[in-house]
Amino acid sequence: MASRVRWTGSGIVNAKTRVRVLYLARGTEDLYNTVRGYLPADFELVTLAGDTPEEVYRHLPECEVIVVATRRLDAAMIAAATQLRLVVHQGVGYHDTVDAPALRERGVALAITPDGTATTVAEHAVMLMLAACRHLAFADSELRAGRFHVNALRLKSQTLAGRKIGYIGMGRIGRATALRLREWGTSGLYVDPLALPGTSEAELGVRRVTLDELLAQADIVSLHVPLTQDTRTMIDARAFARMKAGAVLVNTARGPVVDQAALVSALDSGHLGAAGFDVFEQEPVTANHPLARFENVVLTPHIAAATRDTFDAKMSGVFERIRRFYADEPMQDQVF
Ligand code: NAD
Repeated sequence: MASRVRWTGSGIVNAKTRVRVLYLARGTEDLYNTVRGYLPADFELVTLAGDTPEEVYRHLPECEVIVVATRRLDAAMIAAATQLRLVVHQGVGYHDTVDAPALRERGVALAITPDGTATTVAEHAVMLMLAACRHLAFADSELRAGRFHVNALRLKSQTLAGRKIGYIGMGRIGRATALRLREWGTSGLYVDPLALPGTSEAELGVRRVTLDELLAQADIVSLHVPLTQDTRTMIDARAFARMKAGAVLVNTARGPVVDQAALVSALDSGHLGAAGFDVFEQEPVTANHPLARFENVVLTPHIAAATRDTFDAKMSGVFERIRRFYADEPMQDQVF
């Protein structure tokens, strides 16, 4: 029950007030209605009609819970959210989207929602690998323009089976990707400060190596790390130089993990054979993005986790965490 004791000015009364939950993303009415479908009784969803800072700051002081979706929750916003008790990230990558130290200092709880994400992002990573190896973006756009390249790609397209995949980050999504690709006849190397148990390595068909070894040996490098001080620009000019000539890079993690200027140079020189990106240094991407001129690159707008199935799983997970928090039950995936 979300009813609380409330100070009214004329005394303390028991009031059954509805807890306000701010959904921190500009969505369509259809999306908001879908989110409301998961809202427990006694909670009220506050949504954004526009996408201005003024509107966000108007709502912040009245909300006890914030669901972080596509907008960053920074220290100034946390300071303005004077009643804030709980933040639930509708996903996993909170490191760069939430000012976690500011929340911790205020004693505000933070939970993430991995529900459904690993499978969907892994599928997207596999799709980007296939699309990059088969030059799908080029083949599709050329065909639409009436150019039918039945032979042009034969000497540069690659089959996924037989490729060595280098996973940088072997958490939920790295493991889900490796699990799928094992069935495709690939072999795997990985880099992660945390070693998998030997049985998991055998099950996934992966071997732990150093970053330099991975870069030198992998046919396809796939990024699955959070954005932290350690991982920012970890794929820089030096890393590209260590990669095999013609290697493929896929990024479904975070854009700033890759140094964009070094990436453009590696594509310009032809050292990088093809690439697939769901995430970018600056988002949203605007017209004339430096990667848009490369026909061997496939681009998607940060939608690796954005299927209806995953949205339903996440919303169900988000409000189950909120319900548990107010029922004084342990929340799943609580960061602090
Ligand atoms: P996770 O926490 O389960 O796994 C991350 C792994 O990276 C961990 O095993 C960690 O030890 C490892 N790691 C950390 N620093 C590293 C380093 N310097 N080198 C190598 N490995 C390192 O997280 P997850 O659920 O697998 O998600 C990974 C990331 O994917 C998220 O943090 C998020 O940024 C990104 N993501 C993107 C989308 C999208 O829509 N494109 C969706 C979900 C998640």
